[in-house]
Amino acid sequence: MCGIIGVSGIPDASRVAYLGLYSLQHRGQESAGMVAVDGEGVARSHRGMGLVSDVFSEPALAGLLGDVAIGHTRYSTAGSSVLANAQPILAGYREGPLALAHNGNLTNAAALRSDLVAKGSIFQTSSDSEVLIHLIARSEAREPEDQLLDALERVEGAYSLVVTVGRTLYAIVDARGFRPLWLGKVGDGHVVASETCALDLIGATVVREIGPGEFLRIQGNEVDRLPSLPKKPHKRCIFRVRRALGRELAREHPAPGTDCVFSVPDSSNAMALGFAEEAGLKLEHALIRNHYVGRTFINPTQAGRNAKVKIKFNPVREVLQGKKVVVVDDSLVRGTTSKGLVQMIRQAGAAEVHFRLASAPITGPCYYGIDTPTKGELIAATHSLEEIRRHLGVESLGYLSLDGMRRAAGGNPVEFCDACFSGDYPTAIPEETGARYATPLQPSVAV
Ligand code: SF4
Repeated sequence: MCGIIGVSGIPDASRVAYLGLYSLQHRGQESAGMVAVDGEGVARSHRGMGLVSDVFSEPALAGLLGDVAIGHTRYSTAGSSVLANAQPILAGYREGPLALAHNGNLTNAAALRSDLVAKGSIFQTSSDSEVLIHLIARSEAREPEDQLLDALERVEGAYSLVVTVGRTLYAIVDARGFRPLWLGKVGDGHVVASETCALDLIGATVVREIGPGEFLRIQGNEVDRLPSLPKKPHKRCIFRVRRALGRELAREHPAPGTDCVFSVPDSSNAMALGFAEEAGLKLEHALIRNHYVGRTFINPTQAGRNAKVKIKFNPVREVLQGKKVVVVDDSLVRGTTSKGLVQMIRQAGAAEVHFRLASAPITGPCYYGIDTPTKGELIAATHSLEEIRRHLGVESLGYLSLDGMRRAAGGNPVEFCDACFSGDYPTAIPEETGARYATPLQPSVAV
């Protein structure tokens, strides 16, 4: 769930992209980066580890000249959390500088990479996205757009991409449409971003969501639809549909006799609101989130995850004291964070804690860009409902059913991916080895 942004035809594009990256910060906090392209087609890159505000200084932005830029906020799902894997990737290429920022995961990256290495490719990173750069560079097609298409036809999995070749910006969404990408317009230029909040912050008008399989060429004011990618069944991630989940959850698992409901902020806020409305319960703010700590869920190391729970949430004692409360969360992965949260809520005086999850039990990893661990680490894959309830230490536990999720998603359920709940993966999946994308990066050495 990285965040990506692309800007074309807007003066000081890097400053516009910088603002957009700020609003995409919640999608990845390990690293941030940007490539800007000036009027001569010269590309400049700046990347760093940490938050957008840590990575970009005034001098850094001043150095990113031009009216074309792409940017990225990263959390690692494929490849380790090191600077070498920060994006955008910038490469020298026969048509000029090529830069690429990727949201999603390629499920056949390991096989493609082995093949490329056998043919002499030298990789600079351990991220799956670099495979695309090599495939583009090795394509025998003449035009850059055909080279891009060539490369994309060979990869499987999830990708929403912003790519610059010279001064041309491309925005591409894989044929199944796992991950979102939006097109916006501002002044004489265009912006694409993972979420509309980035367009709002920039002051862009939302034009539309870029659909599955779309391949757009953007040159300032002009947007051209290029031949789309070969059609495949649409499989938007069902997690992208959040609003109605809380209502369905309240219908399936009401908590009669409780005093109030609250969310685990911020990802569950809309769900708790839906639950409160449907259950006729008072919605409270019983947990205050410290926004200056990285998202627990996306922190890549177990040690960091445990330590962060306590500093990330502050329970509000006045709200919790003596109350029978319902906690709504969006999902349960390992259960570590939730267990710590329940302990905090009890210590703050809650009389009863009823835990409700606005998704079905996660029983398999996501291979399409959400950072879920291997099957063995998923609590719902290895424990019964009662075991999980006892592990969390709650009076009652209720998961939304998969049918409930599908009802909440509306539309045609087959157009959604629900593989991490159902096991019905829409692509071939990588072999689970414990190190799912195991092609370890050798630390760079100075010679
Ligand atoms: S596997 Fe799960 S998280 Fe991943 S895209 Fe499918 S529904 Fe979304």
